[in-house]
Amino acid sequence: KAKGSGRNGYALFDTSLRDRVRDRVRLEQALRGALDRGELAVYYQPIVDLESDELDGFEALMRWQSPELGFVSPMDFIPIAEETGLIVEVGAWLLRDAVRELVRWTERRPDGARRLHVSVNVSVRQLRGGALVRTVRDTLAETGLPPEALWLEITESGVMEDVDTALQTLNELRDLGVTLCVDDFGTGYSSLSYLHRLPVGIVKIDRSFVAGVGEDDSTNEPIVRAVLAMTHAMGQRVVAEGVETAVQRDWLRAQDCDLVQGWFYGKPEPPARLEDWLRRDTATAG
Ligand code: C2E
Ligand code: MG
Ligand code: MG
Ligand code: MG
Repeated sequence: KAKGSGRNGYALFDTSLRDRVRDRVRLEQALRGALDRGELAVYYQPIVDLESDELDGFEALMRWQSPELGFVSPMDFIPIAEETGLIVEVGAWLLRDAVRELVRWTERRPDGARRLHVSVNVSVRQLRGGALVRTVRDTLAETGLPPEALWLEITESGVMEDVDTALQTLNELRDLGVTLCVDDFGTGYSSLSYLHRLPVGIVKIDRSFVAGVGEDDSTNEPIVRAVLAMTHAMGQRVVAEGVETAVQRDWLRAQDCDLVQGWFYGKPEPPARLEDWLRRDTATAG
């Protein structure tokens, strides 16, 4: 198969590059139309208040089960959806779906139960043009959800890509009353110089910094402490991502971290499997 140059290194590189291009094209073709074919779904992962140990809300995470390709990770298909612009349509669908789901849950809860939030990831591509602001405004009007119960997560690297556009859109969203979050905090660039300029209420510390906290040789602890001190000084609340152990949870609670999310509490699951969470929370909240 390799062209007769006899240089194996070339042939190998050539093949894997071609494979990657072919994979990418297949993925892109399959992704177009995935929404119409009903292959996309929304899973929800609990976010828990550390002080009360009660459910605070859920993060909505997109899932794609393709008949040809099988389960495709959002780490693989979201970047393609962003590059192709498909994210605008697909993201609007997810936002509506997640808000409607939250309203259904809330309606089923007895009086006096605390309000829950739903947190939706938004990519930088959606911050351009007015579509996102319109979708959010229409969805809130249509469902009657209190705006602060809708959280929108934006990665800091996404914001940094085009600060002026991002700031303008974020300010419009803030004016609608929704809660804005910086996602994967700590993994982007020049975070500190911009954080105070963003109308952000929640900072989500990336799970790479949460790994190992509470253990003897943790080098992440000073970083997490510094992020908590800084964000709390600015009046923001903090979600620690990727909490997998009781040791991490206990350490974070001792540092006055506000909220946690991770496998220790629950993995992302389809709505039908969240009944447990909703019941458990009602029991403790009552
Ligand atoms: P993210 O927003 O930072 O989401 C958190 C990711 O960490 C999720 O991966 C979640 O399943 C995973 N996770 C949660 N707890 C733990 C834990 O304790 N341990 C470990 N190892 N992982 C944990 P997922 O669902 O594969 O999503 C990956 C990324 O894809 C998300 O990162 C987000 O950036 C993107 N994404 C997912 N859904 C959407 C969407 O609807 N729109 C956009 N724009 N991006 C999305
Ligand atoms: Mg997120
Ligand atoms: Mg995150
Ligand atoms: Mg992350």
